[in-house]
Amino acid sequence: MEHKLFIHNTLSRKKEQFVPLHEPYVGMYVCGPTVYGDGHLGHARPAITFDLLFRYLQFLGYKVRYVRNITDVGHLEHDADEGEDKIAKKARLEQKEPMEVVQYYLNRYHKAMEALNVLPPSIEPHASGHIIEQIEFVKKIMDSGYAYISEGSVYFDVKKYNKDHHYGQLSGRNIDDLLETTRELDGQQEKHCPLDFALWKKAQPEHIMRWPSPWSDGFPGWHLECSTMGTKYLGQEFDIHGGGMDLVFPHHECEIAQSTAALGHQSVHYWMHNNMITINGQKMGKSLGNFITLDEFFTGSHKLLSQAYSPMTIRFFILQAHYRSTVDFSNEALQASEKGLQRLSEAYSRLQTLKPSAESTVDVKNLRQLCLDALNDDLNSPIVISHLFDATKAINAVADGKASISSEDLAELKDTFKLMTEDILGLRLNGDAANSVGADAYKKAVDLLLNIRLDAKKNKDWATSDKIRNSLQELGFTVKDTKDGFEWSL
Ligand code: ZN
Repeated sequence: MEHKLFIHNTLSRKKEQFVPLHEPYVGMYVCGPTVYGDGHLGHARPAITFDLLFRYLQFLGYKVRYVRNITDVGHLEHDADEGEDKIAKKARLEQKEPMEVVQYYLNRYHKAMEALNVLPPSIEPHASGHIIEQIEFVKKIMDSGYAYISEGSVYFDVKKYNKDHHYGQLSGRNIDDLLETTRELDGQQEKHCPLDFALWKKAQPEHIMRWPSPWSDGFPGWHLECSTMGTKYLGQEFDIHGGGMDLVFPHHECEIAQSTAALGHQSVHYWMHNNMITINGQKMGKSLGNFITLDEFFTGSHKLLSQAYSPMTIRFFILQAHYRSTVDFSNEALQASEKGLQRLSEAYSRLQTLKPSAESTVDVKNLRQLCLDALNDDLNSPIVISHLFDATKAINAVADGKASISSEDLAELKDTFKLMTEDILGLRLNGDAANSVGADAYKKAVDLLLNIRLDAKKNKDWATSDKIRNSLQELGFTVKDTKDGFEWSL
């Protein structure tokens, strides 16, 4: 493939040229959500980051198999193998079947992803659908000698593994420092060492989600599903594994250890991690009261939000930062993104109406190459957007009669603008943005008509007043007169 795409590999800590194992095929695995609650901004960022990569790799001509898993079992409240299963707890509180909880939140997650124009992955495997494969994977780790059975549970032996391999190489830690900072938790006596993690947990009598295994009736440890499903669908070695930076340790560190133990080598060639989103400088968290779901953003129904934000505004906001930088949410920042997106949308509409001249006085020839250079430099979406804003200035200058463009340049500009905004950045410029502008204009138009009717009533012009009310009613509106004016709905 003729390109120079460089991506930052978390493992080597540097940008590396992307060369897939089996051109033109690319295998990409991204850790998906644990579906026990509504999606929030922290879910949107990895989904959009790896959607950008998915789209760009396809543009470069690769055939991408994109696997994004659904965690529906084994994710305990405290990642250190303790506490209740997050989904089982929700099911208990809501008096539902665990799979009812999973299906409900998965449907909502899909809807939010669709609204954000995130393409569906090629395969979306569920952890609970791969219990047999996970048991087989544990057996391989047992055979390699890096796991032990304790009270019906199976744990990964981190100290033993670390004698032969480096545990902590992805996160840049070493086992001595980890041992010093890891405190012994109650109920961990089953483990030989506090760093050991569960591959299989024996289920307590009250635990609902359980399967038979050679060791006990129980359930798989959370880290295991990604090693298992990644290699099942992408092979023992595959190209890209992504996720949020919060997953580097312990989740992805444990994945490397599991795969190395079971297969004798690592599975992943390029590890990629997106940075986190903070809210007014603070980490997002349920206990901090700043936990805003995607639906709440779309409807504006959270006390920290001064208005509703369209899904495309959220997408644009996330793409305006490089995926490895932190993003701080604030109303001001989102309002700025909303304005920026509107500028691009308006320019896109104006671009369709431009008339070519004999010669160009605007310089748009390099736009495509500049955008590609930015994408090849570790998916630098904010630089792509700044080039598109430069193009917006050129479009507006031509539209305002202050500059001219040749037919050849115009064709190229139309092509590049669509390619970058819609196809690669995945922005719905004339859909979503236009809809929210359209919705606003429509509300104002109905208000305008009803204000004219108010004036007519004041002037005792009953004919006009009735005509407006009856016509709106025929169109399906309900109009109510109130003390200080009117109320309407459709
Ligand atoms: Zn994972």
